[in-house]
Amino acid sequence: MFQYLWADLHIHTVLSPCAEVEMIPPLIIRRARDLGLGLIAVTDHNSAENVAAVIEAAEGSGVAVLPGMEIQSREEVHLLTLFDTVEQVLAWQAEVYAHLPDLKNDADYFGAQFVVDATGEYVRTNERLLSVSTDLSLEEVVTRVRALGGLVIPAHVDRPSFSLIVNLGFVPPDLDIPAVEIFRFSREEEVRQRFPQLRGYTFIRSGDAHRLSEIGARTMFKVAAPTVRELDLALRGEQGRRVEIAKTIASFK
Ligand SMILES: [Zn+2]
Ligand SMILES: [Zn+2]
Repeated sequence: MFQYLWADLHIHTVLSPCAEVEMIPPLIIRRARDLGLGLIAVTDHNSAENVAAVIEAAEGSGVAVLPGMEIQSREEVHLLTLFDTVEQVLAWQAEVYAHLPDLKNDADYFGAQFVVDATGEYVRTNERLLSVSTDLSLEEVVTRVRALGGLVIPAHVDRPSFSLIVNLGFVPPDLDIPAVEIFRFSREEEVRQRFPQLRGYTFIRSGDAHRLSEIGARTMFKVAAPTVRELDLALRGEQGRRVEIAKTIASFK
């Protein structure tokens, strides 16, 4: 009854100002399927307006899509937030928007933020500045996401910027996180040596994909279903569930 799902839980779409225009729903799904991924998460910066389109594009593909968002906390730390339903992630988005400064995006400087449909057709431009910190603290992010039924995983903790470890130097005690994410080229043993303060935390590795070729830094999840609760159990190594980072990285080209 267990499934072994290769997952990349950190994928940006054209809604993220820094993502390439090729990051549209059908191409993301095709790439995921070609790489043998059974599970992906859509995690745009501080917004989830393309999540439903990617889920629709994935219908019948065999690729499960988790609704998500990469939020930037007050401490300039990036955190993956993952949910089971579009309703949950949109409720989260409403909270996030209420905690973002009300500023307009400078598309020439940061890049444009496109909302698209399941075929990748342009729907509208999100004019709001998304590449900025919310005024929510790390603890507030975790508490609010858990209350909505979601899961929080600090993103790319070994990167030099927007990272929990580099910005803060440590993981705040009592933060309810089951795992941390390491960057797509990082090796678990090296990160553990560099950051002994991560002892005791499970690692996942994701693509943080801003272009199609960056999808595929896989982590294997042994779960009964691709749900937040099952992922949480797998990340904590409970009830027969577990995770394992791929020995090799799916081809980057
Ligand atoms: Zn990030
Ligand atoms: Zn990212």
